[in-house]
Amino acid sequence: MASGIRAIVFDLDGTLYSNDDFSAEIKWGAGIYIAELKGITVENAATLIRETRQRLSSERGQEATLSAVCVELGGSIAGFHATVTPLLHPETLLKPDYRVTALLTALAKRFELYIYTNNNRTLTERILQEIGLAGLFARIFTIEDFWRPKPDREVLNHIFATILKNPEECLFVGDRYDVDLKLPTEMGCSSFLVTNIQSLLELETFLSSLPTNPRKA
Ligand SMILES: [Mg+2]
Repeated sequence: MASGIRAIVFDLDGTLYSNDDFSAEIKWGAGIYIAELKGITVENAATLIRETRQRLSSERGQEATLSAVCVELGGSIAGFHATVTPLLHPETLLKPDYRVTALLTALAKRFELYIYTNNNRTLTERILQEIGLAGLFARIFTIEDFWRPKPDREVLNHIFATILKNPEECLFVGDRYDVDLKLPTEMGCSSFLVTNIQSLLELETFLSSLPTNPRKA
């Protein structure tokens, strides 16, 4: 390989697959969680979530995650996951994209592949199974590792220490710059923004375009 990249750290949702029906199911599940928490209808909860997300994003100058919205509304990230996970049906909604399977299978022969997601372990494993990517990752980091959603500097330092890599040796791949890529980039990692599955398929070209030996120390 030409560059000093040795590990690729992928976000999961919206990065390795994209499915509008499944995204809608997650939003619906969040509505149920907040509705129960607040004693309001699911419809009103959905509005509250949307408005809270817009407000937080504006206040913080970067896109707020669903995790952050749940906490802002008085819930907990653990409670959100416990409520939503049994309501979701990746098994009926998701299927493999053989172009992505081929890409990741090829990359796994040249790089250590990791997942770092705000999703939980149970759902992550169910999703990976359905999209045909189970078994390709050296390690999966989920929200349950620290209950600290992305972006989080301490969790990133833990990841670098765990996988025994310097930031300069890591490429982060994600679909939300503020959530997945901004902080790793500040810490010295390379990053690749995925806007749709077609852009994910351009990852090989991106890797071959990286400058040689960017390793600093
Ligand atoms: Mg994502």
